[in-house]
Amino acid sequence: MKGKKKEKIRIPSCWICMDNGFILYRKKVGEYEGEYVAHCTCQAGRDYAYDGTRCEKQKSPYYIPSVAEELDHAGIGAKNFHDWWERNKNKKGIEKAMEELGMKVPKDG
Ligand SMILES: [Zn+2]
Repeated sequence: MKGKKKEKIRIPSCWICMDNGFILYRKKVGEYEGEYVAHCTCQAGRDYAYDGTRCEKQKSPYYIPSVAEELDHAGIGAKNFHDWWERNKNKKGIEKAMEELGMKVPKDG
């Protein structure tokens, strides 16, 4: 049986990166599939928007693409929201917190 401790509700402002600023993804290049990082297009992602080719002091081929360039960011946002909702929907006050942000509360069944 679950306790009735009050859980803190944290609603991310960005559903694509969940406020992390970056997204890890797998991509196959030739025969090799590796893990890559893309920075988000939101405020949090600006810290990760690093383009080494623009650095004049020490040119580097290192470049982090944006999520919009590399990935289906709308799909990622929808999936993240769904996962988050599944984890948080039973929290007390979750619907009120979402409504305060003008978000639509998914209805089950
Ligand atoms: Zn983001």
